[in-house]
Amino acid sequence: MGRAFDYVILGGGVAAGYAALEFVRRNGGASSQELCIISDEHFAPYERPALSKGYLLPQDAPRLPAFHTCVGSKDELLTEEWYNEHGIVLVLGTRVISADVRRKTLLTSSGEIISYKTLIVATGARAVKLEEFGVSGSDARNVCYLRNVEDADKLVGVMRSCPGGNAVVVGGGYIGMECAAALVTNNIKVTMVFPEKHCMGRLFTPKIAEFYESYYASRGVTFVKEAAVTSMQISAGKVTAVILGDGRRLPADMVVVGVGARANTGLFDGQLVMENGGIKVNGRMQASDASVYAVGDVAAFPVKLFGGDVRRLEHVDCARRTARHAVAAMLDATGSVGDIDYLPFFYSRVFSLSWQFYGDNAGEAVHFGDLAPPDGGAAAPKFGAYWVRDGRVAGAFLEGGSRQEYEAVASAVRRGAAVADVAELERRGLAFATQA
Ligand code: FAD
Ligand code: NDP
Repeated sequence: MGRAFDYVILGGGVAAGYAALEFVRRNGGASSQELCIISDEHFAPYERPALSKGYLLPQDAPRLPAFHTCVGSKDELLTEEWYNEHGIVLVLGTRVISADVRRKTLLTSSGEIISYKTLIVATGARAVKLEEFGVSGSDARNVCYLRNVEDADKLVGVMRSCPGGNAVVVGGGYIGMECAAALVTNNIKVTMVFPEKHCMGRLFTPKIAEFYESYYASRGVTFVKEAAVTSMQISAGKVTAVILGDGRRLPADMVVVGVGARANTGLFDGQLVMENGGIKVNGRMQASDASVYAVGDVAAFPVKLFGGDVRRLEHVDCARRTARHAVAAMLDATGSVGDIDYLPFFYSRVFSLSWQFYGDNAGEAVHFGDLAPPDGGAAAPKFGAYWVRDGRVAGAFLEGGSRQEYEAVASAVRRGAAVADVAELERRGLAFATQA
């Protein structure tokens, strides 16, 4: 048995939703057998960032269909009906188990062969498991990862089963920071454990990290830094304590693990060229086989702003924009769509804090604003940093900015604003960008 489509999007996450919208806008909808999305999730594409934020709120937490794509960029809400109305075939709850790039076919877990003329790979990433570090216990009833709605439902259920209890959060990256904040808001006591000297080690400077760690501490979070989890004590299918390398024992009613992600490239190993752990594509998001495009977390693409350096970015804005660009390139009959010119953009929201980052955190970091540890959260903090490389602004971080201020720092990065004197940049701070 089998079906054939002109275009198949493999994966039904953020990038798939934005690709579908772009397809409909450019193509005026899809005729039957034209476009199909295959996803192993049971829902139409949704805005994944909601899972570590609104979804975990103690009250009025949004649930699907409220956060299907593309509401995250204030665009249309693409419900299952939307796909039906626009002639797009959604194949949900179906895993693709093998791909044959030469034959242009995909084999699904239900034994169906789906063939395509053009494929968009949007398989995203998966959570790294503790087992990959030699620690067992991931399948315990109170150990939570967070990648999809199913994970989020488990996390909510476990959190509600131990009000006032102890959570150990393993990992000091995005998941760790956002989940720790959500747990505290749900009246759970949190201890964060991670191997680095400070949280968000790959993005934050020590000074920026110090601010957030102080803020979290003021909300009751305990940090155990430069520490490794070596095992978990399990009783009746539940973790009761997390054991560290130095023998310390952290009692736990629940554990949340956020120790990184790996791009889902396995179906294409040996068939497409890979780089930086992802599928290598050109500026039109086209892989080493011209009938395949890759977008979102799985794509390693050249960033013009960084001199064409090939990067793989695991962030939602990148998924949205690379998806749209791939569809524009794929449907481009006149050759008018050029290479993507992307300004990397990441953000996070925790408690009442909110930050944005643009560009590359490479070069010398120059801080501005009031980075003093918070006074219990009374005043809204505003501070940030520029990264200066070769006399130009390469990256910028801003906490607590207004829309205009975020746009101004983004613009400083985009144009590579010249910095003649670092001390002067430090003195002018945010005004360097806003009064340029
Ligand atoms: P995904 O959205 O992960 O979608 C991939 C899809 O492919 C999934 O539906 C998956 O099930 C499916 N799939 C994979 N393999 C197969 C297969 N073999 N067969 C069928 N289907 C398959 N980024 C930010 O910038 N800001 C944030 O605040 C933020 N918050 C986040 C919060 C959470 C909890 C998570 C997990 C991520 C967050 N991100 C955030 C990152 C952002 O969500 C991702 O970068 C984005 O989802 C990537 O989109 P994607 O479409 O490439 O992958
Ligand atoms: P991250 O890569 O952000 O962070 C993983 C963290 O775990 C790092 O601090 C890492 O340290 C640490 N770590 C690695 N190994 C261990 C270990 N054995 N024990 C304890 N800590 C360890 O990944 P996340 O899991 O936080 O996020 C998963 C995905 O979700 C990413 O793609 C992320 O971009 C995305 N996401 C993005 C959000 C956003 O943009 N706001 C929000 C939520 C998720 P080290 O750096 O030393 O390896």
